[in-house]
Parts: sequence; structure tokens; C-alpha cells
Amino acid sequence: MSWQRIIGHQPVIDAFQRARARGRLAHAYLFTGPAGVGKRLFAGELAKAILCESDANRDKIEACDQCPACALVDAGTHPDWQALARPEDKNVVPIELMQELCQTFALKSARGKGKVAILDDADDLSAEAANCFLKTLEEPPLGSIFILVGSSPERQMATIRSRCQLVRFRPLDAEAMNAWFDQHGIESHQRARLTKLSGGSPGQALALADPELWTFRQSLLTALSQPQPDAVALSKSWMEFIEEAGKDTAAQRRRCHLVLQLLMAFLEDALAVSLADLEKPAGEDAVFLADFCRRVSEETILAMLDRCLEAEFHLDRYVQLALAVESLVDALTASA
Ligand SMILES: [Zn+2]
Repeated sequence: MSWQRIIGHQPVIDAFQRARARGRLAHAYLFTGPAGVGKRLFAGELAKAILCESDANRDKIEACDQCPACALVDAGTHPDWQALARPEDKNVVPIELMQELCQTFALKSARGKGKVAILDDADDLSAEAANCFLKTLEEPPLGSIFILVGSSPERQMATIRSRCQLVRFRPLDAEAMNAWFDQHGIESHQRARLTKLSGGSPGQALALADPELWTFRQSLLTALSQPQPDAVALSKSWMEFIEEAGKDTAAQRRRCHLVLQLLMAFLEDALAVSLADLEKPAGEDAVFLADFCRRVSEETILAMLDRCLEAEFHLDRYVQLALAVESLVDALTASA
């Protein structure tokens, strides 16, 4: 039942079933792969499957979704289940969270099926938090399973990496993406574009499906297509759009990343049109592209792409949002 929620990762499900059949589940797993590809969702299903108390699932890993344990995991109140992540307003997972986790794991399993912890944002463990966790990983309590969700093995401390079994999640192929689009009611005219832009990541596709994002993109491209774009007005409208994501700066930052992604995809298309010397580009952006490429040289498009990458770099390093947007818009409008 519950694995049906997981799309595109059947080989990983099969690997866990084989490990269970041989009685060889590891104590710690490190999930890696692109953002939004479904690692956290998979970790949640796996945790529930491990803790499931249904007799029907004795020989396989599968949550029944009906027993008391499954209901407790769904409610987030199972005493042997824990999920933690980096707080939205912090750059790192604080040591206090890890201490709490390790203390809880020193206690016996309350319902007798072992304990499972999911640590999201494992890339962002502070050095102290990692060291604190290491002691528990070295001598794991009996019947405990840790699932670390990160992006790549290289982002983890070697001491942590070497104690975890690595599980790689791949981007979804076109067929799996379509199944996912069906499940989430994404309209067919959006699918080709979202598949390309998301790189096979459903989470990314969902974020990019937001219609407001495409409306803003339209006004951004219109502004940049003017002979003399108004930098002040554009910065202002860009910031307003970002702030509409809510008071939470993490949400604002995410929205800014999405705008940058759409802008860079447009600039890459423009570069391709320019290099191929296409007079009449095809597709939904044909008019914008033809217009843009008539006015802007290849060198300038490359320079604009560079500035977008620089802005992404700044966003990842928590440079103040308004500052990052303003300096990007200045650079874009000066060259456009
Ligand atoms: Zn169950």
C-alpha cells in the first residue's frame, strides 16, 4: 500500500526488500541525490514500514497504513520515531537537536520494533553536532536505524559517511515524471516544460508549477526586453514578488532561486538561438527570444548568465536578499 506513494524509485524499494529478506538492514543509511527527487518522502515511508506492527508484513518492508504504529507515525507521535531537520532560520543543524536525538536513542524501544530517526538536511550538520552524533553511530543502540538525508556523500564528514550505507536516488525518467504529474493533477500543457526545467525532480517541478511564478517571469522578460530597462522599478517589483512568498525568509529565498532558475533557462535558450543564428525561434517564448536576440549579443547573454550564477552563489551564502536582487538587476539592466 504505502510504497505506491513513491514514484520512480522501485530499484531502491527492491534493494530494501532484499536486505530485509536476508535480515541485513543496516543501522544507518545516507540518502543522496538531487533536491526534490523524493528522498525525504522515501525516508518517511521506510521508517513507517520498519515500525509497522501488522503481521501481514512480517517478511517484507511495507507499511500497512492501518495498525496503531502506522497511525502514530502518520500523526508524528510514535514514541520510537523521530524526525529532525535544520531549523529554517539556521545555517546548520544545532548540536542541541543532536543531543536530544542521541539521548532518546539511548532509551529502549517503547513498542518493541526498534527505533527509527530521520535526519533531514544532513549536509548541514555543524561540526559539533556531527561529533555528538558520531558517538551514537559508532555504538548504535540495538534495533535502531538512522536515515540521513543529504545531497551528496562529499557533503558529509568522512567519519559519518563511512558509518552509513549509501543509497543513491536518481532523477525520475520521463515515464515516472508523467506518473507523478498524473498523481498531482499537473496539466498536460505544462508537463514538457516542467520535466525539462526540473531535471527529473518532482519537488522542483511542483515548485515551478506555481502560476504566479510564470506571470512574474513574463513581466521580468518584458522589462528586460525594453531598450532602456528601469532598474529601480524592476528591483522593486522583483522584491515585492519575493516578499509575497510570506514573512519567512527561507520561503522568500526559495522563490528568488526559482525566478533565477527561470531566468537562466530563458538566457540559455536565447544563447542557443543566438549561436544557431535562428531568425524565427519556435516554442512559447518565440517572440521574446527573437526580440531579445536581435538586441543582445552572445557575449552579453553569457555575461548575464554569469551574473545570475553569482546571484545564486550569494543566495546560498545568505547574502541579504534585497542586496543580491538589486546588484543582479543593476548588472542585467546595464548590459541589456
Ligand atoms: Zn502498519
